[in-house]
Amino acid sequence: MDSPTASEAHRPSAAPVNDTSRALADRLRRHTRGEVLFDTASRGRFATDASIYQVMPVGVFVPTDDADVQAALDIARELRVPVLPRGAASSQCGQTVGACLVVDCSKHLRRVLEVDPANRVATVQPGLVLDHLNAQLKVHGLWHPVDVSTSAQATLGGMAGNNSCGSRSIAYGNMVHNVLGADVWLADGTTQRFETVDRLTGRAAGIARFVRALADTHGAEIDAHWPRVLRRVGGYNLDIFRPRSERPYTDDGSVNLAHLFVGAEGTLGFTRSLTLKLAPLPRARVLGVVNFESFHTAMDSAQHIVTLGPSAVELVDRTMIELARANPAFRPVIEAALIGAPQAILLVEFSGDDRAALLRQLRALVELMGDLKLPDSVVPMTDEAPQKALWEVRKAGLNIMMSLKGDGKPVSFIEDCAVPLQHLAEYTDALTDVFRRHGTRGTWYAHASVGTLHVRPILDMRQGGPNGGAHKMRAIADEASALVRRFKGAYSGEHGDGLCRGEWVAWQFGPRINQAFRAIKRELDPDNLFCPNRIVDPPRMDDPSLFRYPTGYQTITIRPALDWSAWNVQNDPLTETTTAPGSGGDASGGFAKAVEMCNNNGHCRKFDAGTMCPSYRITRDEQHLTRGRANTLRLALSGQLGDDALTGDAVRDALDLCVSCKGCRRDCPTGVDMARMKLEVQAQRHARFGATLKDRLIAGLPDYAPWAARFAGLLNLRNRSMRLARLGERLLGLSARRKLPAWRRETFWNQAGALGLVDRAAALAAPKAVVLWVDTFNGNFEPDNAVAAVRVLRAAGYAVHLAQGARGERLCCGRTYLSTGQVDAARDKARALVEALQPLVARGIAIVGLEPSCLLTLRDEIRGLGLGPPADTVADQALLFDEFVQREARAGRFAPLWRSASRPLLVHGHCHQKAFGLMGSVVDTLRLIPGAQVELIESSCCGMAGSFGYEAAHHDASMQMAELSLLPAVRAAAGATIVADGTSCRHQIADGTGRAALHVARVLADHLREPGA
Ligand SMILES: Cc1cc2nc3c(=O)[nH]c(=O)nc-3n(C[C@H](O)[C@H](O)[C@H](O)COP(=O)(O)OP(=O)(O)OC[C@H]3O[C@@H](n4cnc5c(N)ncnc54)[C@H](O)[C@@H]3O)c2cc1C
Ligand code: SF4
Ligand code: SF4
Repeated sequence: MDSPTASEAHRPSAAPVNDTSRALADRLRRHTRGEVLFDTASRGRFATDASIYQVMPVGVFVPTDDADVQAALDIARELRVPVLPRGAASSQCGQTVGACLVVDCSKHLRRVLEVDPANRVATVQPGLVLDHLNAQLKVHGLWHPVDVSTSAQATLGGMAGNNSCGSRSIAYGNMVHNVLGADVWLADGTTQRFETVDRLTGRAAGIARFVRALADTHGAEIDAHWPRVLRRVGGYNLDIFRPRSERPYTDDGSVNLAHLFVGAEGTLGFTRSLTLKLAPLPRARVLGVVNFESFHTAMDSAQHIVTLGPSAVELVDRTMIELARANPAFRPVIEAALIGAPQAILLVEFSGDDRAALLRQLRALVELMGDLKLPDSVVPMTDEAPQKALWEVRKAGLNIMMSLKGDGKPVSFIEDCAVPLQHLAEYTDALTDVFRRHGTRGTWYAHASVGTLHVRPILDMRQGGPNGGAHKMRAIADEASALVRRFKGAYSGEHGDGLCRGEWVAWQFGPRINQAFRAIKRELDPDNLFCPNRIVDPPRMDDPSLFRYPTGYQTITIRPALDWSAWNVQNDPLTETTTAPGSGGDASGGFAKAVEMCNNNGHCRKFDAGTMCPSYRITRDEQHLTRGRANTLRLALSGQLGDDALTGDAVRDALDLCVSCKGCRRDCPTGVDMARMKLEVQAQRHARFGATLKDRLIAGLPDYAPWAARFAGLLNLRNRSMRLARLGERLLGLSARRKLPAWRRETFWNQAGALGLVDRAAALAAPKAVVLWVDTFNGNFEPDNAVAAVRVLRAAGYAVHLAQGARGERLCCGRTYLSTGQVDAARDKARALVEALQPLVARGIAIVGLEPSCLLTLRDEIRGLGLGPPADTVADQALLFDEFVQREARAGRFAPLWRSASRPLLVHGHCHQKAFGLMGSVVDTLRLIPGAQVELIESSCCGMAGSFGYEAAHHDASMQMAELSLLPAVRAAAGATIVADGTSCRHQIADGTGRAALHVARVLADHLREPGA
């Protein structure tokens, strides 16, 4: 089939721009202080969540405070535009997509309003993230214990909206068991306090009477149809007046009307604040990992294990174990939990204050498994660190699964059905059989303690007909629901109803209770202001107009500049094998499929350890988030942003603050590599618009540097004259507030002759040889680093050969050209380097570099330039200085004489070092120095990022990134030596703190002891 043009590929979306939406935007702009985002790209970024759906909103509003929300609700009501509140949009069922005004609570409405430690109660705004609340509660020894896997992203408002449930729900219950009160904006424009019914007055008391009457009228129906399991989150909580949950909703048996809004998915009101129950942080936890030779036995054992009173029982099945094993970061963690090759493991946790009692419970588990004829099946974990690491693997479960390349993806629609434990084994067997009959399979994991197992069959939603994803999804849903009914379970047991399970609400509860739900909606929201057609009167789950990837979804044709063929594949759902690179039928050569690896789970909305995503960390804008960027690219590549959108303003703006740190390459569970994608877009833009003067200046640096160095004095005048700096800012956009790297007449190459370097022949003949590749930045601006590297390597007995061309030319990786989109020029540079190094790498000699972004270009981007196997050979043997030292020291080949360290060493890692998991080698290398106290700064990107921080337009963003954690840490460590391998990082530290940071090579050289000294 011919590929479509952008306008042909474009699908008309819901919520067209019309007079009403224009009036809405206009009035929001005039009457609020919030952000009003009505352009197509912004709406597109809020058209999806972690589900399979996509619906264009009318517009997006980001309120700054309660007054903004109040005003927006009033305006929307007058204009009859429905409103959809949104947190992190990590919902899996389409709860946060709709043709509404989407209101993002997560950017500003995120304060802890009050903490009452004595009564264990906190009141919060809806946009606060769970982990951020718990971080503030830690000093009081308390936490909010609904520990969802998305705790680093999920907002309390979203958690209440979905009635979320954590891994430890068997011990603490779901959200509904942990909400004590709520202030809610109702559809009539009033704000009401909802709490224990006895305390309610006015309108709130009237609603309580209305719902109680409904519950009384439908008593018999509730008794007959309401699932008696803890994990029932579908429908409205009509049973607060006739409790059916395995766990009471309140501690004292009272009825709390706030619970009506929990799990209502924003359909009954807009939460203004939540009062939450807190629990003491358990002082101790122990874990027993039970290994099973059969999946069925694991499922059958869960009902017995829960009798021991664990705080969690979580399943990880064979496939998940294998996927975790394939991930270098997870392999040692999972292997520590295994006995042989189990088909499944159950993570059984006991927690509390009395460690001795927990150890007794652990012994009881071992005895129980013996009684169940499974002796020697338990791996005890009593220390905190291995337990924490194993929980991380379990929490990453879904994301590990989602990394499957190709159009078939694990699809969430029956992933949290809950069945009573005695039926769990039979249910999982039967559902596995259903999958098999439909030519697919699923991976099982998660909450065995409460009968809620996660499973996602692999389906290709783009394929139509009886073999297509939508057809199979409905068939599997029908059969799964029949099983849930047979075992008296709950169809929606954790993730809510949204678009994909709303249809099953009537099925689950019966027509009369469904009618009662409709009456509740009508009573509270007669004009359908809040999230219409959810829970009550929902659309069909398989309505193709709602899908993100409907049948026949196509992308535009482009000739990519980089090689994306590894993503251009298809997969087999049964075997999960993928076809050969390049065979996936992608009109963009695999670029679109790489972009589509973003599943919208929102893991990139993180502020904790790791690098991803510095621009989101400073802005909290969806536009400046990895997910927002991937969505913008996906919309552009599928023609949904109009013609030429890939090189247009919306994509340019979304990528503007991307510092190409590669944080996402490592931290994104599906490996979305936005830095690489930005290179591709830059290349496409370059092909369309050509290079700007600034681009040419930046890209050509390696070429004109030898010439410029001769005029160092003259060029450095710019750093001393504000007038020249301002002129530079006007002409080139380089910030006058920055000093540029200072040119040196005395470059590394001028000094190389006196450093005892060897020629190629000597290097090839030497028993211990290394090739030092000196990059443009270290060679010209900080030659002392390269000189130090030579000293250290020679002191350790290496013959050091300088990488250069046949006629002594300097070699360049092409990075400056790549980053400005000049891929052909970059390829020429890289080719020259690859050819020059071939004889040396052919003999297994390592290529050692000093600048992480340059050296790691050899490892990474150079492979995508189409230079064939020689580039791979260079990539395989390119090592950063500290990696080489660590490798050689481990092999016993690196042992110069050292002086002891006199100051602590505080290390900031370059983003690319972190992205490639190389910080261990920096620490190990520095620890070769006797007495070295090495500490890593837990920092994201320094914000300088090549030329980014030098640009006037990015100066403020750059400094904000640095101030997130790096600069405060440096300022706080007055007595330490600051270590940073990245040229830009050192400049940023100097600019921000006035402190000079040193390259590892300099630190090692400073601690060398000359023989005999
Ligand atoms: C990888 C992954 C793992 C997950 N693991 C779990 C898990 O362990 N347990 C679990 O329960 N869920 C889990 N989920 C689902 C999801 O993360 C949770 O439901 C989460 O609590 C949603 O929070 P959010 O901020 O993303 O809410 P959103 O998705 O933004 O919103 C959720 C609902 O709340 C409504 N809402 C948001 N703010 C308000 C407000 N101010 N007033 C009224 N309504 C509002 C929205 O309209 C929507 O209906 C997982 C999802 C993913 C992708
Ligand atoms: S970019 Fe990665 S982490 Fe972010 S939503 Fe997409 S898949 Fe998740
Ligand atoms: S490369 Fe860095 S800044 Fe860009 S999207 Fe990824 S994490 Fe964010």
